[in-house]
Amino acid sequence: MSKIYSKIAIIGIGLIGASIALAARRAGLVDHIIGCDADPAVGVEADELGLIDEFTTDAVAAVADADLVIMAVPVGALGPLAEQIIPAMKQGAVLTDTGSTKRSVIRDVSPHVSPDIHWLPSHPLAGTEHSGPAAGKVDLFDGRYWIVLPLDAPEEVVVTFEAFVTGLGATKERMDPDYHDKVLALTSHLPHLIAYTIVSTATDLESQLKNDVIRFSASGFRDFTRIAASDPVMWRDVFINNDEAVLEMLQRFSEDLSYLQRAIRWGEKDKLEELFHRTREIRRSIIDAGQS
Ligand code: NAP
Repeated sequence: MSKIYSKIAIIGIGLIGASIALAARRAGLVDHIIGCDADPAVGVEADELGLIDEFTTDAVAAVADADLVIMAVPVGALGPLAEQIIPAMKQGAVLTDTGSTKRSVIRDVSPHVSPDIHWLPSHPLAGTEHSGPAAGKVDLFDGRYWIVLPLDAPEEVVVTFEAFVTGLGATKERMDPDYHDKVLALTSHLPHLIAYTIVSTATDLESQLKNDVIRFSASGFRDFTRIAASDPVMWRDVFINNDEAVLEMLQRFSEDLSYLQRAIRWGEKDKLEELFHRTREIRRSIIDAGQS
C-alpha cells in the first residue's frame, strides 16, 4: 500500500488512536505521525510502545502542519477540542473523528468548521473493552466496517480518506448521521446498556449469591462482564449523546421482553422456540458476513 498522507495528527492515544497509528505504519500510509493526549504519561507509554514519531500535550501545536487530523477522544470532548484546533489547522487539511455517535458530533463540531478545512466525520465499527495506548491492536480494523459521513466534503477528499481507512484494513461504507445513530443504537449501544444492567443487577445480590455468580460465570454471565468492563467515560458520553435513538430502541426492547415474559408465564413453548430459531438465523448471517 502506498503513502496517502504525509503527516497525520492523532489526538487521543487510547485504544482507537493507538490502533490507527499501528495500522497506518503497518501499511506505510503516512510519513509522520504526531500523537497528542491530555495526559503526558500517555506520551511516555506511546513512546515505549513505538506508536508515534512525536508526542505533545498541546493539541494546537499537534495539528499545525498535519494533512489529516484524527480526533480519537470521547464524544463529549469533541466540540471544545474542534473549537480549539480548527483555527490552527493548515489550509486544505482534513479533520475527522472516530466517535461512536454521529448526530451529536456533527452538532458539536460543525459550528467551528471553517471553509479552509474539510470536515469528514467517521466511525470505525471495531473496538474492545480495553482502553489506553497499550490496548492498541494493529489488526483492530481488519475486515471491520468504517463508516464515513461525507457531509459537504468534495468527492476527491472523501475518496482519499476512504483509501486511508481501507489501508488500515477496514471496509469503507457511507451513511447519513440519523441512520448511523439508529443502527448503532441497536447493534452496539443497547447491548452495552443491557450488559451494564445485568452486571449491576449481580452486584446488588446478597454476598453468597454474588460470589457464586462470579464462580459460575462461564455459563453466559462472563460475556456480559466483558462488555460491561468497557470504558466508563466513553460509554457515559455515548448514551448521553445518542439518547433519542437509544431510548427508542430500549422501548422496542422492553416490548419484546414483555412478550417473552408472557410466553414463559403461560408456558407458550412454540412462541419461545420460534423466536430462538429466528435469533439463531441472525447469528448465522453475521458469521456468513465475516463479522463474528
Ligand atoms: P480511550 O482508550 O479512553 O482513549 C481516549 C484518549 O483520549 C485517552 O487517553 C484520553 O485521556 C484522551 N483525551 C480525552 N480528552 C482529550 C482531549 N481533549 N485532548 C487530548 N486527549 C484527550 O478511548 P477509545 O476507546 O480510544 O475511544 C476514542 C473514541 O473512539 C471515542 O469517541 C469512542 O466513542 C470512539 N470509539 C471507541 C470504540 C471502542 O470500542 N472503544 C470503538 C469505536 C469508536 P484521559 O484518559 O486522560 O482522559
